[in-house]
Amino acid sequence: MLTNPFSANAILLGILITIGILSLVFSRLEPGTRAAGGWGTSILMMGLGYAMLQTDGRVPSLFSVTGEIIMLSGVAVMHGAIRKFRLEKNPIWSPDTWGFVAAGSVLLLWFTFANPSARARIVVFSLGLALLLAWGALRSVTLPGTMNRAPRRLFTGVVWGVAALFVARAIGTIAAGPHEDEHFRHDTLQPFAATIGVLLLTTLSIALMWMEVSLLNARLARLVSQDALTGIMNHRGLMESCERELSRAEHFHEPLSLAMLDIDHFRRVNDDHGHAVGDAVLKHVAELIGADVRKYDTCGRLGGEEFLVIMPQTTTPSALEIMEHVRRQIEATPYLHKAMPMPVTVSIGIAELTDYMGGTDALLGASERALYRAKRGGRNRVETAAVEILDTSTTGVPPAVEYRDGQAQRN
Ligand code: GH3
Ligand code: MG
Ligand code: MG
Repeated sequence: MLTNPFSANAILLGILITIGILSLVFSRLEPGTRAAGGWGTSILMMGLGYAMLQTDGRVPSLFSVTGEIIMLSGVAVMHGAIRKFRLEKNPIWSPDTWGFVAAGSVLLLWFTFANPSARARIVVFSLGLALLLAWGALRSVTLPGTMNRAPRRLFTGVVWGVAALFVARAIGTIAAGPHEDEHFRHDTLQPFAATIGVLLLTTLSIALMWMEVSLLNARLARLVSQDALTGIMNHRGLMESCERELSRAEHFHEPLSLAMLDIDHFRRVNDDHGHAVGDAVLKHVAELIGADVRKYDTCGRLGGEEFLVIMPQTTTPSALEIMEHVRRQIEATPYLHKAMPMPVTVSIGIAELTDYMGGTDALLGASERALYRAKRGGRNRVETAAVEILDTSTTGVPPAVEYRDGQAQRN
């Protein structure tokens, strides 16, 4: 087949080799990629296998059956590439996929040497490829959900399409009955089928690169709203969440509470033990807050040693209960510095959304004022702004209410 460089097969092969090499180059030069390397390898294996398969009937059968086995292995490597998206360990060497390839290879060798039948080989090869592809399509359903849906759907859809093509080929071969030419795979349909196959592989390759890009985008988007030191949400992410939760709460007439937390006398930690220890204490506190709030609460670092917890569908008494628990938890869990316990406490201000508030700034301002009262009141305590806001409407004077250990005390 390769004698004429302009034959359809030579052109198709050229396309596969180009895509394969480009994928490998892409994976090498773009460090964030996950699957492109495995993908490039599998496309090159498909190309090599396809070229070897075309020699059927002209050189010893060992050559063409090896081509079929290489193509099956190529799909197994494709599985590995898909698994790399999920950051699985040793994704290429999964025993189930390779066990399947091994079983298919034994059958192919059987129908080549022990009980030669070109028809049986086509059926085994086509069904084996179809099953491996369908399996890959099922696997791609579990790709990271953070990635854009469109390329995932394109990829999965086309993989199902290629699998269906091979099933059709197996059925067609069975239906056609015995053939006088033992090497009837070189029929007029062959170039047509091969062209469709290569076009589909090209589409798959573009879908795969698209998935890589969309995954990188999702990771970047996460980094943009993540605090580099503590790993929890940063100021930007918090403000976005705040806006979103606020408009949701207003729309559905649901309660929403905010809690602002500030580490007490944090400057002393830095002054006495250095900035690095200060950073470690920040991480320690962030972990404690994150572990103590509910799944649907959002917590983040506002900046410096200040944190914010957004609590949807939560009224002041519930918020108070949660934050009182957080406060006690932090108080009871000192940071261990060189095996020496270093006590850490936080002051907390809570505010609940009311009809009188204009927006996020007002809610944040209210929780900040409550926080300052907690500081003024002696620190390591929770204060709430709810009464302040509700009562100003009737009395015009905000009475200070202070909560300590869950007990409200009017000053
Ligand atoms: P208060 O109880 O009134 O909150 O006292 P404080 O010392 O905690 O408050 P202040 O706001 O005066 O000090 C905050 C300190 O936090 C000042 C700054 O050096 C430190 N800080 C801010 N960001 C970081 C950080 O990322 N890492 C470290 N190690 N320290 C930080
Ligand atoms: Mg502080
Ligand atoms: Mg502060």
